[in-house]
Amino acid sequence: MARNNSGAVHCDDRDRARGEQDWLLSQPRTLIEWNSKYMKTVTLEQPGRFTTGESTQPGTPGPDEVLARVLTIGICGTDLHAFEGTQPFFTYPRVLGHELAVEVMEIGDGVSGLRPGDLCAVNPYMTCGVCAACTRGRTNCCAKMRVIGVHSDGGMCDRILLPAKQLYKCEKLPPAQIPLVETLGVGIHAVGRAAPQAGDRAIVLGAGPIGLSVIEFLRVAGVDIGVVEKMPERLEFAARHHGLQRYYPSHEEARQEEPSMLVFDCTGDRGSMEGAIQLLQQGGTLVFVGLINDKISLFDPDLHRREATILASRNSTPAEHRRVLDYMESGRIDVTAWPTECASPNAMGERFPAWLHREAGIVKAVIEWA
Ligand SMILES: [Zn+2]
Ligand SMILES: [Zn+2]
Repeated sequence: MARNNSGAVHCDDRDRARGEQDWLLSQPRTLIEWNSKYMKTVTLEQPGRFTTGESTQPGTPGPDEVLARVLTIGICGTDLHAFEGTQPFFTYPRVLGHELAVEVMEIGDGVSGLRPGDLCAVNPYMTCGVCAACTRGRTNCCAKMRVIGVHSDGGMCDRILLPAKQLYKCEKLPPAQIPLVETLGVGIHAVGRAAPQAGDRAIVLGAGPIGLSVIEFLRVAGVDIGVVEKMPERLEFAARHHGLQRYYPSHEEARQEEPSMLVFDCTGDRGSMEGAIQLLQQGGTLVFVGLINDKISLFDPDLHRREATILASRNSTPAEHRRVLDYMESGRIDVTAWPTECASPNAMGERFPAWLHREAGIVKAVIEWA
């Protein structure tokens, strides 16, 4: 078990675990002894290669910590980029898994509001609380942000120790829906950045899970929504699932119509990001939700003529996670159709390459861990 500077505790001591495992294999033992000491862990050893092995079970939770059993794990672009080897600043080996549903098994001293058996969503963003962003309540862009499952080992293991404050108790959601709290958090934050008013005309570029999350919260805000998506399956899902009247397979088609006061780029595609301003109304707001590890350029007169407001949007805050949970549990947001593929941990290694390709038409993949 290792502990990082931000306080996250994870099952990272794999080498020692392997050594102990070799020793253990030579000893007479019962399966119960084995199960109480080791657990299944899937590690992304390097781009393109997962290994399934055992690591030492985490110990009992310390003060303000919870020992939790992992139930389901949502897979998102971050995981896919890590698998592809295109995630900036990512180091290997790494246990992925940051969109989690967990069941509380044990609580440490000082933990209140949680007890064994509770199903919880997990806020994977570990923030410092003292940087300029954190002290202004903008914890989503903390200067020392560490994301569980990205900067430290995540939930692709049977059990995990987590700071209790990172958990949100879910009263009504099934485990397949709970990881979507994190996905939807990105959408609620992006929409909040643009501060829409009812009746505003908006267009969302890209209809993957993040684009769909943005669409959900624009709908809640009473906005007139259009969507651009080049993958026919995704465009059809977005239009049908949200009852949208305006949907386009390309920027060019969308440009034939009136521009929008609000444009959200959720593609992380350079061409889309650079062309997004052409869809923006005079005085409008363009929000870059998707990101790219590269430069993008804009023709300055396009920006100035519109007096455009350009915003970046990153992650989400605990308050936003709680609002998302409230929307989901009250049924105002229904994303039951989103997990379009549920896979077992064993099938994951095989299926991952397919999830990299948008052509597969998968909206959201969820691993059923337990
Ligand atoms: Zn994610
Ligand atoms: Zn901070």
